[in-house]
Amino acid sequence: MATVKNLIQTHANGTCSTALVKKLSLQVIDEMNLLIPNVLVSFDDLDVSGDDATVNFFLQPKAKDALRRAIKKRGKTLRLNSAYRTVVQQHILFSWQGSECVSRAATPGKSNHEDGFAIDTPDFEEWIPALKAEDWQWLGDSDPVHFTYMGGGVRDDIGNIGVKAFQILWNKHNPSDLIDKDGAYGPETAARLDRSPANGFAIARLLKLITPPMNGEDVRKLQQVLLGRGLLETSQVNGVFNEATKLAVEIFQKREGLGIDGIVGLQTRRSLKIPA
Ligand SMILES: [Zn+2]
Repeated sequence: MATVKNLIQTHANGTCSTALVKKLSLQVIDEMNLLIPNVLVSFDDLDVSGDDATVNFFLQPKAKDALRRAIKKRGKTLRLNSAYRTVVQQHILFSWQGSECVSRAATPGKSNHEDGFAIDTPDFEEWIPALKAEDWQWLGDSDPVHFTYMGGGVRDDIGNIGVKAFQILWNKHNPSDLIDKDGAYGPETAARLDRSPANGFAIARLLKLITPPMNGEDVRKLQQVLLGRGLLETSQVNGVFNEATKLAVEIFQKREGLGIDGIVGLQTRRSLKIPA
């Protein structure tokens, strides 16, 4: 499974796209919205176009409202190169700094695009008046494709919330390697970004006793953890979620003061510290 680090290294082959981290980026955005409901909203319902593999069509609600008015006024499709950029994408660009991919990139958490009120359009010249009228400021010749929403009513800490969302996401999937959820991009977070699966974290299924029984590597990992806690015998580690496994889970849940249902959901999984 390719990691973000693998993707960073591909720039040596002349590949400079962050398209391969789209799924991981969407997981970070979901986590941000769990942390603060509607902190970012999708705007793909507006008359916009862009490469869906690389552009995240998300903005803060007020910035979206202003964009909607500008597009309505102009009555044309707005083409985009970039909108919301997640900490994962910024981490990649930051790592590429000085290469043929990127000359200069902001520290992850600090980029304007990570705030949810910036867009890049290749058709900047024709859009300047309509966007300007709705408080979207054109940066000028130093970065001609770029516009920033300056109309107020937006949060300015979204970059840090994005870093924090990644830290929470990492911890959910790596209960035996927990990191600080401080919203700051430092070496600890950068190392976890490197090790994250480029295609997103696998979403764990609920493990429980059903007919026919569930089996697989995830059940085996669960049983190994139960074995380590003395709740199963070595001979019972077989990758099949059977009666013995259910009983072991129930005993664990009772010991930990969790709800006793013999089902391994998010909370039991976290308490067991099952490796991802
Ligand atoms: Zn930009």
